Amino acid sequence: MSDERARRLVIVGGGPSGLAAAWKASAEAQRAGAALEVVVLEADARVGGKARTGFADGLLIETGPQGFLDDQPVLREMIAACGLAEEVIEPEPAANRRYIYRGGRLRELQRSPLAFARSGLLGPFGLARLAMEPLAPARPGGDDRLGAGVLTSGDATPHTDESLFDFAARRMGRQAAARLISPVVLGIFAGDARRLSAAAAFPRLVAMEQAHGSLFKAMRAGRKRGVPPPGHRTFRRGVEALPQAAAALPGIDVACNRRVTAIEHRGGGFAVTSSAGGLAADAVVVAADLPSAADLVDGVSSAAAEELRQIESPPIAVVHTAFEVAAAAHIEPAYGFLVARGEGIRMLGCQYETATFSGRSPDGTFLARSMFGGSVDPDAARLADEEIIDLTRRELRRTVGIDATPTSTSVARWPHAIPQYAPGHPQRVARIEAALDPIDGFYLAGNVLHGVGLSRAVAVGAACGERAAKRLLA
Ligand SMILES: Cc1cc2nc3c(=O)[nH]c(=O)nc-3n(C[C@H](O)[C@H](O)[C@H](O)COP(=O)(O)OP(=O)(O)OC[C@H]3O[C@@H](n4cnc5c(N)ncnc54)[C@H](O)[C@@H]3O)c2cc1C
Repeated sequence: MSDERARRLVIVGGGPSGLAAAWKASAEAQRAGAALEVVVLEADARVGGKARTGFADGLLIETGPQGFLDDQPVLREMIAACGLAEEVIEPEPAANRRYIYRGGRLRELQRSPLAFARSGLLGPFGLARLAMEPLAPARPGGDDRLGAGVLTSGDATPHTDESLFDFAARRMGRQAAARLISPVVLGIFAGDARRLSAAAAFPRLVAMEQAHGSLFKAMRAGRKRGVPPPGHRTFRRGVEALPQAAAALPGIDVACNRRVTAIEHRGGGFAVTSSAGGLAADAVVVAADLPSAADLVDGVSSAAAEELRQIESPPIAVVHTAFEVAAAAHIEPAYGFLVARGEGIRMLGCQYETATFSGRSPDGTFLARSMFGGSVDPDAARLADEEIIDLTRRELRRTVGIDATPTSTSVARWPHAIPQYAPGHPQRVARIEAALDPIDGFYLAGNVLHGVGLSRAVAVGAACGERAAKRLLA
């Protein structure tokens, strides 16, 4: 690479993770008073990745994430740097109420033990077993760092890496694992609790067991210390506000409609080939989603690419239906509901957008967002628009009794929506990182390895951007 030009960092993917990498790298260069060219190449016509907000018929439509967890200080830092701190909004109080559809009706996930017992979510045996959770022995020899730190893959031993279902069944009983944990997992991963790694998908739960010997004891200890669980947040104008603002930051050069097709490691740098031609880079951050990330990594390590190809990333369809509020007047304002499998309902769950964050729908309108697909029913996400809207209407009638014609409908599809961290994921991450570590200046960001949520994707992206900038400016 020539010494005459500023060092160049190329970031592939203008989703939340890639833009976090760009923001952090450029901030690092400014802090050091050094020149660094930060180029983001985005395949799509606009940045944002799955953080995509649409506006139609007076509605604010979130086709990907509806919000994010406020659990990463670096995300807060990025929000402030983007001038969005005042734009962050909290959920409406009603959004504390959540339901599970089981046994042919909605049952509220109650907090008080008595109300929970009466909800009918668990039978007497399931309740008794759940109450014994503090007495269930903890697995010995766990590693509470598993997946918990940014860019620490953890050195999981096989016995700590059980499926989420097995973990939940061991701690809370099989009934709670099937009727409580499995539907909740549908809501987060659109995944199957039996095919997800507890350590990788829910590192906090595993850490809670390791630290306190029991999930209930850990929650009690958290309450005593006055530590609130991380909050769910979004922006007044929707989640896409963050990538849009980050892309407009000074010091970042964003090029849309640039699909990167290959990355080669050449002479201490990288040759990046995109739909617009070739670009030399001194360092590269790949923040593309699967399967594109695997194809690009192939240019520098076929072993890492092969591992990435083993990570399933099934499709999801997100269906928005708006109704005149009278049609939904009987519905208790709430976050929404998840559907236990085996109910003959294909919908994974439904969020009542109107009741969750303010400003999602005009007065007099009820906006519902229903999800289909995931690893439990990928074909549902591939139904034609008309079929999936019909299905949504039938299932909303059956679950919540909305029996009206929607005033507005829309269908969004993500062919590769959310990576599924299968049992063995921590070991896979360790192998991928061992293969990529020796490649100086190459970083893999995104939500493929270290957490599927937006806040983790941002944290991983920012860490990669910082490392890349420090290396280039050293
Ligand atoms: C339906 C749905 C609901 C979700 N809900 C939530 C939620 O409520 N809360 C939450 O925290 N998270 C949620 N998520 C997850 C969240 O969307 C991700 O954590 C986040 O989008 C990850 O950001 P990213 O930048 O890693 O990837 P992405 O958002 O996938 O962005 C990747 C970017 O890379 C680009 N790209 C890919 N290949 C190339 C290439 N070859 N060349 C150039 N560019 C390329 C893509 O076009 C895209 O813009 C949800 C996801 C889905 C699908």
